[in-house]
Amino acid sequence: MDIKVKKVDPKIMKPKPEDESKLGFGQIFTDHFFIVEYDSDKGWHNASIEPLRPLSLDPAAMCLHYGQEIFEGMKAYRGENDSVYLFRPEENINRMGRSAERLCMPPMDNDLFMEGLKQLVLLERDWIPRGAGSSLYIRPTMIATDAALGVRPSDKYLFYIIMSPVGAYYPEGFSPTRIYVSEKYVRAALGGVGDCKAAGNYAASLYATREATEKGCAQVLWLDARERKYVEEVGTSNIFFVIGDDLITPPLSGSILPGITRDSVIRLAGSWGINILERQLSMDEILSSNADGTLKEAFASGTAAIVSPVGQIHYRGKDHVLGDGNTGPLTEKLYNEILRIQYGEKEDPFGWRVKIS
Ligand SMILES: *Cc1c(COP(=O)(O)O)cnc(C)c1O
Repeated sequence: MDIKVKKVDPKIMKPKPEDESKLGFGQIFTDHFFIVEYDSDKGWHNASIEPLRPLSLDPAAMCLHYGQEIFEGMKAYRGENDSVYLFRPEENINRMGRSAERLCMPPMDNDLFMEGLKQLVLLERDWIPRGAGSSLYIRPTMIATDAALGVRPSDKYLFYIIMSPVGAYYPEGFSPTRIYVSEKYVRAALGGVGDCKAAGNYAASLYATREATEKGCAQVLWLDARERKYVEEVGTSNIFFVIGDDLITPPLSGSILPGITRDSVIRLAGSWGINILERQLSMDEILSSNADGTLKEAFASGTAAIVSPVGQIHYRGKDHVLGDGNTGPLTEKLYNEILRIQYGEKEDPFGWRVKIS
């Protein structure tokens, strides 16, 4: 399928941000977006790159009522000599396909997705920030647009990709976070949609996150829905613990989002000879191994930060400093290695990097 390209009039192009240190996350957007329409007769059609504009939706559009809305999160990186890289983009494309299937939405054509993504990033390449650790955040999205009030899968959809330049996650170096263990509220239950990037999961997480903030914590440490005993994720990231010589992360049981960074951490650490265990890890075990000194590091993993050290957990009214409360050596090594692969600064043993220019 051809992608029609309609470029924004250069006279009304937005100024590029001058101070990259003030970019923050997801505050400003590039000049163009990629958009494709779907209906059950024509399938995916009308693929175009156009000036970014508000969407026109019927107030009855199904995404606004019953939550058929999925998304992805990925980045483009600027390397040496203005090269442009994506990181494992086919993983995001495949994951969005699985999210679509689970929410009874039509899978986007993988080749069209990749082609639209590459063309859009190249058209907007001047928006990719230059500062160390900065990048262009990419948000593929799919919404149901049928105007009808009945709970059923929509017949019409929009797929689009918007992009936002984002600053370095750690402009002043790592700062280990304090996280709040939520026992009352859960993120996802087995059999639900916790393993999809479905919009409703994030709405459902806000209340517990507000509670965490009120307790002075940065994020929620989510426990399993049934027993409220085993750790699952932290905020919108996966979670890892170093106990003894093992790197431990909860298994992809169905309620956990299969993070691409999680997979990269597992494969990279495995290649260094580290023993990786994907197994259930209870709060009791975390506290006892912390008390006897065998728990050395804890970190979250996700596209936004790569890895984020966890220094303290707040559980049942008490604070527990994990390890020595600082960023652990494995956390730091993983961060540096993945970052250098993403920016083209070192060889790429797994073939994760996609150079698009
Ligand atoms: C996106 C996300 C992650 C991390 O996935 P990455 O592919 O590593 O960015 C983890 N947990 C949740 C709930 C997420 O939404």
